[in-house]
Amino acid sequence: TPSTTSQDSGTISSTASSAAPSYFRILLLGSHGVGKSLLTKHFMSSENVFTSDETAASEAAVSIVLDGEESIMEFCSVFTDTLPSEDINVDAYVVVFSITDRESFSRSLTLLHHLRNDLGTDRTMVLVANKTDLVRNRMVSGAEARSAACTYKCKYIETSATLNHNVDELLVGTLSQIRLKLNPDAI
Ligand code: GDP
Repeated sequence: TPSTTSQDSGTISSTASSAAPSYFRILLLGSHGVGKSLLTKHFMSSENVFTSDETAASEAAVSIVLDGEESIMEFCSVFTDTLPSEDINVDAYVVVFSITDRESFSRSLTLLHHLRNDLGTDRTMVLVANKTDLVRNRMVSGAEARSAACTYKCKYIETSATLNHNVDELLVGTLSQIRLKLNPDAI
């Protein structure tokens, strides 16, 4: 199978170096109904993902080979009625809102502010604007969301879980951000 190249990251392939895979935990946060479950479902069935013995243990873990290095990414998703009381030991927070639901955007800003400013986390954070297929019901502009992401030093990405649009980019983009943080000198 030929390798595919993602927009902001390296090359995905089915052949990994012999090094042991890295293991990363990703926490998806956001209001109820914004698409966290559907996004996670697509991560699991991504064409870039290869199941291995390690991933068989958990339904929500995938193995992904990026730039010849294998990583296992495990996802958990929480509906945050209350704000986290401490900086959770994960490798990335992925905060999701729906472009059709302004309240979910406000909620995501509250979460980002809480994580960065109140809890002072330095972890990788990604802000996800989901449901981009519902163009006519859009309530949050890309410019506004991008600017918020910039304020909180997050990567910003727009997805449609329904159309499976940009979902692989979200997966690979999150992994790239995590690796960059671990190894800032890498190109
Ligand atoms: P969660 O509560 O955040 O886990 O949200 P779900 O993944 O359960 O999604 C809530 C509802 O929104 C479901 O009916 C999904 O089918 C729908 N949904 C999720 N993502 C999208 C999307 O990108 N576009 C559209 N139109 N609907 C979506």
